[in-house]
Amino acid sequence: MIESLERLKLEALESINNCSNETELNNVKSKYIGKKSEFTEIMAGMSKLSNEEKKEVGMKSNEFRTAVNEAIDNKLTAIKDEALNKKLEEDKIDITLPSKKKRIGTKHPLTSVREEIEDLFLSMGYDVVDGPEIETDEYCFEMLNVPKGHPARDAQDTFYITEEMLLRTQTSAMQVRYMLAKGDKGPFKMICPGKTYRRDDDDLTHSHQFHQVEGLVVGENISLTDLKGTLELFAKKMFGNDREIRFRASFFPFTEPSYEVDVSCFKCNKKGCSMCKGTGWIEILGCGMVHPNVLEGCGYDHNKYQGFAFGAGIERVACLKYGITVRDLYTNDYRFLRNFDRKEI
Ligand SMILES: [Zn+2]
Repeated sequence: MIESLERLKLEALESINNCSNETELNNVKSKYIGKKSEFTEIMAGMSKLSNEEKKEVGMKSNEFRTAVNEAIDNKLTAIKDEALNKKLEEDKIDITLPSKKKRIGTKHPLTSVREEIEDLFLSMGYDVVDGPEIETDEYCFEMLNVPKGHPARDAQDTFYITEEMLLRTQTSAMQVRYMLAKGDKGPFKMICPGKTYRRDDDDLTHSHQFHQVEGLVVGENISLTDLKGTLELFAKKMFGNDREIRFRASFFPFTEPSYEVDVSCFKCNKKGCSMCKGTGWIEILGCGMVHPNVLEGCGYDHNKYQGFAFGAGIERVACLKYGITVRDLYTNDYRFLRNFDRKEI
């Protein structure tokens, strides 16, 4: 038995030495010290030995196991080192080669404009809130002072899901949601940017889906002057410091009085050009003082609180700012979008 173990050891060590990868090494390991190995077989015969012999064979078998395991460990380290060196050799980097340029994408112009608007209002202490695009008729119309059959609904034909559920035509629905949700019924400032929908045919200036940003401020002693100052700042931030704004009387059911707001043409500086259709002014948004019915409907005492609201189309701001069309924004033409890439230096 001692001789068999000696022979087996020499054989095993040689096999281990001849291994060139981990798989071969694992096979050799199970061949020599696995459950079905010759070594296990030899050991099975130990029971027939005398105590003296058992002791000797036991020592030899331990020696065998230790030698084989050690050899396997050493070989494994050698194999791994070799593989690493080979990889390092192959992966040599030539630092003198010019690098491959990675194209860095950028935000879509609509996203950039929306974020610019959000940043401006955040800096003035407004909450920026988000609301559902599937809205109830009640929040989108009824509670904004537009009951069923009101002519203002004609201009805002939308996609109805059921009689009472629709795709919101205006972010103004969030005025109602925000006021109802606000537990303390105290003063606040918020804007809500988001997607809105109308049954418009898509053309250069229209899209069935577009983005609005709604603004709503409620508090004590809020006046038209506050509204004008806020929108003046908005116009200057979006279109340049020299911009002026003017109010034109208009009608919206949920504000009283209501106004359309024009910004002085930044292309011709009020002289008149194709962009402003010769008028020197460009319409940018609608606004007004919150109608008492809306305040009362949402639990605000209109004798104590007043408010102003405004709604601007984000596409409109983006189109004016960049001199592009709504179609440019939605066709996802790569050549167009590349104009907004970050510049590589
Ligand atoms: Zn002009």
